[in-house]
Amino acid sequence: MENLLLDEMLRRTATWCRILGIDTEFFGGGGDDALLAQAKKEGRILITRDMALSKRCPKLGIKCILLSSEKAEEQIAQIISETGAQLFFPQEMRCPECNGELGIAPADSVKEEVPPHIASEHEEFWKCKKCGKIYWEGSHWKNIKEFYGRVLALLEKGKTEKT
Ligand SMILES: [Zn+2]
Repeated sequence: MENLLLDEMLRRTATWCRILGIDTEFFGGGGDDALLAQAKKEGRILITRDMALSKRCPKLGIKCILLSSEKAEEQIAQIISETGAQLFFPQEMRCPECNGELGIAPADSVKEEVPPHIASEHEEFWKCKKCGKIYWEGSHWKNIKEFYGRVLALLEKGKTEKT
């Protein structure tokens, strides 16, 4: 699928997209014109909740998805159904910080880089291939899995409503 560019109002949504493995750039500010220019230059689908901004896209040849919900799980379900994105979570995840791909890191290779109690309590680690940040199934993991479950349920519901 094509890659996404989320506008600056959607930082939380961008983080969730990345955790679920969707290639997502986040626009850090600079105004609508700069945002549109970046989407055009990088060939990304612009994701926004700003109707006026979305209306400018067709003329510029930019694909845009106007999100209808304020809830992150509903936004992501909309993004997935409109782009046809395939999710391979948790095999494929991206770094919430920088959008780099996460690779499995053997525990031995990261032991020196994480706090000792983390190293002794966990066996599975991921390392960002871009910024080097290390992740493990910490206290947020349960929330992440529940969030993913809610997205899947919404997609399932969407399918039945269409047929
Ligand atoms: Zn990273």
